[in-house]
Amino acid sequence: MSGTSEPQRPNPSEAPCPICSNQTFSWGRTVIEANDWLYFRQGDGFWGDGEKMTARKCLTCRNVQLFTQR
Ligand SMILES: [Zn+2]
Repeated sequence: MSGTSEPQRPNPSEAPCPICSNQTFSWGRTVIEANDWLYFRQGDGFWGDGEKMTARKCLTCRNVQLFTQR
């Protein structure tokens, strides 16, 4: 090992669109009804577990990707 600091990992939510490589997005939440959040829950999770998911929409090709909040 050399160097004193770990290389910074790129933040996937800041990567270009995988479909068209554009980088202009709008961010929002995923909504079912009543303006509630959509959650990700692991397969072995229980009721009440889960991470809120935000959505990133490419303004060029309109592809939407989901990210959990940190
Ligand atoms: Zn795109």
